[in-house]
Amino acid sequence: MNDPSVSTTLPSRDAKPGRAAPLPVTIPEEKILSCVHCGLCTATCPTYTLLGDENDSPRGRIYLMHAVVQGRLPITESVQTHLDRCLDCRACETACPSGVEYSRILEPFRLATAQAQPSWKRRADWFRQVVLLRIFPYPERIRRALTPIRLLQKAGLYEPMERMGLWDLLPARLRAMLTLVNASVPAGPPLPDFLPAKGRRRARVAFFVGCVADAMFRHVHWATVRVLQENGCDVVIPGGQCCCGAIHYHVADEEGAKRFADQNVRAFPVHDVDAVIVNHAGCGAMLKDYGHYWKDSQTPKRQEFAAKVRDINEFLDQLGLVPPIHPANLTVAYHDACHLAHAQGIVAQPRRLLSQIPGLRLVPLPESNMCCGSAGSYNLLHHDLATRLGRRKLENILRTGAEVVLASNAGCLLQIEREIRRARAPVAVLHPMELLDACYRGEKPRGTTNGRMARPSRAGRNTSGNVAG
Ligand code: SF4
Ligand code: SF4
Repeated sequence: MNDPSVSTTLPSRDAKPGRAAPLPVTIPEEKILSCVHCGLCTATCPTYTLLGDENDSPRGRIYLMHAVVQGRLPITESVQTHLDRCLDCRACETACPSGVEYSRILEPFRLATAQAQPSWKRRADWFRQVVLLRIFPYPERIRRALTPIRLLQKAGLYEPMERMGLWDLLPARLRAMLTLVNASVPAGPPLPDFLPAKGRRRARVAFFVGCVADAMFRHVHWATVRVLQENGCDVVIPGGQCCCGAIHYHVADEEGAKRFADQNVRAFPVHDVDAVIVNHAGCGAMLKDYGHYWKDSQTPKRQEFAAKVRDINEFLDQLGLVPPIHPANLTVAYHDACHLAHAQGIVAQPRRLLSQIPGLRLVPLPESNMCCGSAGSYNLLHHDLATRLGRRKLENILRTGAEVVLASNAGCLLQIEREIRRARAPVAVLHPMELLDACYRGEKPRGTTNGRMARPSRAGRNTSGNVAG
């Protein structure tokens, strides 16, 4: 074959049999054929683990996609369901000895099938159109949308209303979102344009703020930039940056995702910094993929930008961490966010950083690299499966006896914190940078007291937030 990519056609789902409107989808056929159906990935696949159905395994899904792309199988409801259930967690890529790039098959396939839907159908999905596309990518809108919930929490009404089952009256996706939001922590003030290095300057970096991360995890942003300063980094926070585009991309608004990508590429002074730092795995994986997703005149600039992107764990490990002086005196478990471990291959780095914190006992978390069920907006769209994965993660965390569980991703933090809160378990859920920051400052990590855990408040949240001000 001369061209390694094959353009094939999928039958449009609303076309009559035999009169399918052609839909171009370019999936390099060698990527599909690289799967030798050995099944070594199945044990690591969360949906196969839960459901035990071959069609919900990586091998089964590759087979289904291949059959659809070749026109041997129509996209029936059943086929669509098996493919929709995939978390795109990429655990199968880590497990696969043949190097199958599963997401490079799934993502174009999903885009093509979504775009095959009549546009009125996509526009009629209010959750996609309003919540996912119009609110989530904009931090100010998220903050405004959260105001009523925050007021209920402040008035102490949230939990009684939840116990009365009032949330059950809401549509499922809204209800799922509400229970996640309750796990959030009040944000600090906006980050300034620039923060200078402490001591000898070792690097100059630009910091990516994002959307949900900025609206709900600004305390993590503050912790991260302080850790960077402690490690001798000048930190530039470019204005004009925006959401990474992952939300748009994963709900098949490719043009919207590209607009965000190009805005970020324009906003970041990549020639003036050693790295673009990102502290949430989902955003990092998306930013690193900018050079891959779209092929046009802007591709070289996107590739240049993507080459500078570093996850904070990866960057500090490369730079060489300045170990904190103050001890943590805590037993800690680390959860591998899928988009860090599987999408970016960052597994050892955060553990090496944690090993340099005095007094910290890092205990192994069973199934640490299995998805917690968050997976972008998966826990809003596939509530039952996501909840089962969340409960499984909780059980594994409780088994460790850890006082703190760490995760480097906004979605994982929300999902795990919700399960911890529901179980009223005495475990703090933190980003690794929050823990490091506390150890530089000689403060108790958020949610802990004197190396022992604070009891969860009635609202399920601690009141000792370490929010910079
Ligand atoms: S994806 Fe990899 S591990 Fe899974 S069946 Fe195919 S070749 Fe085997
Ligand atoms: S991406 Fe995750 S859920 Fe999807 S097939 Fe691979 S392991 Fe299973």
